[in-house]
Amino acid sequence: MGRENIDNWHVSKCAKACDGCEEKFKDKQVLHSRLFFEEGEYIRQDFCEKCEAKAAPALSVWKTIFIVPPPPEEEAVKKENVESLLRKLLAKENEEDLNAIFILMVMLERKKIFVERDIQKAEDGRKLRIYEHKKTGESFIIIDPELKLDQLEHIQEEVVLLLGGKPRNVEPELPPDSEK
Ligand SMILES: [Zn+2]
Repeated sequence: MGRENIDNWHVSKCAKACDGCEEKFKDKQVLHSRLFFEEGEYIRQDFCEKCEAKAAPALSVWKTIFIVPPPPEEEAVKKENVESLLRKLLAKENEEDLNAIFILMVMLERKKIFVERDIQKAEDGRKLRIYEHKKTGESFIIIDPELKLDQLEHIQEEVVLLLGGKPRNVEPELPPDSEK
């Protein structure tokens, strides 16, 4: 299973505005998220209270809270922790980070910061897990990479490096005249 064929990656993000009336969500506004499956693709839509009543039937429906993300300057000075790293990777939407994102989410679930709300199975057999932040009420959809035990160790190592703020895949530096 290649990681490159994920076309439903964008489902993890909460919309900035209602998918019905297009009104912008306010900070801490309660909204309703719905997961649809259309033409082989998962689609997440977020609705305000009014539009939720008119929304089409969905695979999964849950309540969430819209949080205005903090300005980037503020984010940069904060010390990296498991949660801030998860948010950063989710915002970047890089498919190569999917494994790390999943590991971070599992760590946060164990710490009881997130709770799992639902699991959906995609047509290609992939699992989508819906997690809710216990304090803020935000929800995130995470693609479960269904890691094997031997992969797990490697990715956990990678995550530890990320948390320490060290760059990935650094070649060991050799002095120019060193023998090979
Ligand atoms: Zn609306």
